[in-house]
Amino acid sequence: MTLLISYNPATGDPVGEVEITPSSEIPDIVALARAAQPAWQALGHEARAELLTRAHEALSARADELGRLITEEMGKPLADGIGEARSLGAGVREHLNEIAEALAPEVVEDGRLHSVVYHDPLGVCAAITPWNFPMAMPQWMVLPALAAGNTVILKPSEETPLCGQAYAQGLIDVLPSNVVQVVHGADDQGKTLVESDVDMIAFTGSRETGRHILRSASGGLKRVILEMGGKDPMIVLEDADLEEAAKFAAWNSYRNAGQVCVSTERIFVLAGVAERFTELLVEMTKNTRVANGLEDGAQVGPMVNATQRDHVLAQVEEAVAQGAEVLAGGEGHHDNFIMPTVLGGITEDMAIAREETFGPVACITSVASEEEAIERANDTPFGLGAVVFGGDVEHTARVARRMTAGMIGINRAAAGAEGTPWVGARQSGYGFHRSRDGHRQFTQTRVVTRPRV
Ligand code: NAD
Repeated sequence: MTLLISYNPATGDPVGEVEITPSSEIPDIVALARAAQPAWQALGHEARAELLTRAHEALSARADELGRLITEEMGKPLADGIGEARSLGAGVREHLNEIAEALAPEVVEDGRLHSVVYHDPLGVCAAITPWNFPMAMPQWMVLPALAAGNTVILKPSEETPLCGQAYAQGLIDVLPSNVVQVVHGADDQGKTLVESDVDMIAFTGSRETGRHILRSASGGLKRVILEMGGKDPMIVLEDADLEEAAKFAAWNSYRNAGQVCVSTERIFVLAGVAERFTELLVEMTKNTRVANGLEDGAQVGPMVNATQRDHVLAQVEEAVAQGAEVLAGGEGHHDNFIMPTVLGGITEDMAIAREETFGPVACITSVASEEEAIERANDTPFGLGAVVFGGDVEHTARVARRMTAGMIGINRAAAGAEGTPWVGARQSGYGFHRSRDGHRQFTQTRVVTRPRV
């Protein structure tokens, strides 16, 4: 038996351990999931929804305990950890109703034929998830897969196995045997799971892993949904409310220590307002409290581990060596804690302008025109979120329509209203989920047709 020990990134202390799943056992785990699937499907949506609601509401009711585990295992401030745990059950009934509507059979008739379009489960779904929202990310994949009648094998990140296990256990305690199972480990277990006899892989994580999964899934033409990284831009137009724009930039660059797929990684500000916007952001940055997430008032906790810390600091150091200017932060980092940092004078040749940073760094570029802002913001192979701040709503909306990301926010974050898809464009997403069309990606569409009588 080999153990995976999980460490608190704020203190270095062990938080707990799980048993690593030997890769050789994965085919048997998949076989159990396959055997359990027909009965789970046969229960029907209403009975499945009842069990899933009960399990998720019970998890939410433990938000204080589970939120603390999130903070201890990956570092985010306790209030955010508790908020994440609470979100597991919040709105779950509405979410399940939306799935039921999306997957209900549809009758389509023409002059000659009567067809019924069904959305059947695919079978066994592997959910492979990252560490940055260690309970919410599993929930985002696992819940729609189960509601559609699939059985699921969750492979949580090796950085947050305890959170993954706690979430899955909440389901395992309520659902029939083997409807949900967990595989623990790192890329070896992930690769074996992808290559095993699963029907679908729902993945959230880095672009590099996504590419690897797509290649391995291609042999069996398995269905995949890949939600990957980003390099989200923010544009600040001349008539924007600069206070609000700076507040948003500070929040969305530093929350979860910048370890958010839709965090603001590049800021393009029109030259006429660049100085004032920068002053405001610098001021807010200096007032951001960095501390162990369990401490009162902590706004930014540690990076998840030393590798992520080193990656972020290397990008900052390289940018500074290439001429970027440190306008706030940039020093006082200690252990896994990085002080929120504002950089100016960013140029396209710097890695920090092109590659995902995933750290608490705000990169400001002053631009001469709106055209330049749009062109530079879109000049990336990624395309997850984008944000535009402007005073004239109609005009700002026209700028937003020219952004090539999948989700664009106007004077707010990129994520859409309930019922809209969570979707990445270009190399940030391959398939998507949430919304009617997203829920259907966990199913096989079938059409049964007879002559009209
Ligand atoms: P990662 O790709 O390193 O790991 C994600 C998961 O994949 C882990 O469970 C890991 O063990 C597993 N894995 C690694 N190699 C594998 C392989 N070859 N085959 C199968 N599984 C494998 O990502 P991470 O560091 O855990 O997470 C951070 C990344 O996730 C960032 O790029 C971030 O932008 C992205 N992310 C995207 C979204 C989104 O909605 N688009 C949401 C959250 C995070």
